[in-house]
Amino acid sequence: MTDALSTPGIHHVTAIASDPTENHAFYTDVLGLRLVKRSVNQDDVGVYHLFYADHAGNPGTSMTFFPYTGTRAGQPGAGQASTVSFTVPASAIDYWVDRLAEHGVDTRRVERFGDSVVAFTDPDGLPLELVGREDAPAGDPPAGPVPTAHAIRGFFGVELALPDPGPTVRLLEAMGYEEAGTEPARGVAGATVGDADGTSRRRFETTGDLGFVVDVVTGSGLPQGVPGAGTVHHVAYRVTDAEQAAWRDLLGDHGLRPSEVIDRKWFRSVYARTHGGVLFEFATKEPGYDVDEPLDELGERLVLPEWLEDRREEIEAGLPALGESV
Ligand code: ZN
Repeated sequence: MTDALSTPGIHHVTAIASDPTENHAFYTDVLGLRLVKRSVNQDDVGVYHLFYADHAGNPGTSMTFFPYTGTRAGQPGAGQASTVSFTVPASAIDYWVDRLAEHGVDTRRVERFGDSVVAFTDPDGLPLELVGREDAPAGDPPAGPVPTAHAIRGFFGVELALPDPGPTVRLLEAMGYEEAGTEPARGVAGATVGDADGTSRRRFETTGDLGFVVDVVTGSGLPQGVPGAGTVHHVAYRVTDAEQAAWRDLLGDHGLRPSEVIDRKWFRSVYARTHGGVLFEFATKEPGYDVDEPLDELGERLVLPEWLEDRREEIEAGLPALGESV
């Protein structure tokens, strides 16, 4: 029985970056997130896997990266999660416009479904948005350069750029998302993917207070997505261990080919490439990022799952320096 499944929203989002030091500086020093896990890509151990999140690395807050030094830039567009958005208090929007300007980040103000939004890109060109919400949860902001009153609380949602959205929309609805509204083409020349001329936006929402939004953008104005630095690799949704088998069944029912349940050390995951091209993951809350290091020391040293520990010396020697701004 798979019809009762519902995800409360995003667990984490993983994207591709180029320079790990630049990536780390931007997400910690500028956006004020906490590096909660410094590990390696378990499928390519010469590359870091860096996790930025709130104080405790709660599900719904972690933006993670595979930084491939020197890799070519991708193109956010069709077949991808084309924008990642974070929740901030509505009262923090002016603060963020000023803060990003002080750090040399170009921003664009947008009104979306009644919310004030600040749109910008990270150093690799990944489209990001801060969404000002009156109902922003208090959350668990990290100690850092951004005052708690203005801090990023976690994800707001993702935008999926889909020329043929039907199958993915049906999947989202089976995952517990309900359509919440539409906005017509904004038609902004040179804007990020979802606001480009000839696109329109449908909003889907589920029940959580973080990462509960998926915007599906479609239309003739979508550029073709090309994987590379500055593009999303996959979007993970929060699920329970008890329901993992049912999630696999649901994915199969939608004509997808789900992976087995994979132990990712800090969560257990099922993956499936959706019909629209976006890789979805279904990840558990347990055991969490503090399973292998104390909460107040998260991210300070390279941690490896035990099945890679006997290769630690070789792995550390193969990784670039991460900079000093920890
Ligand atoms: Zn993942």
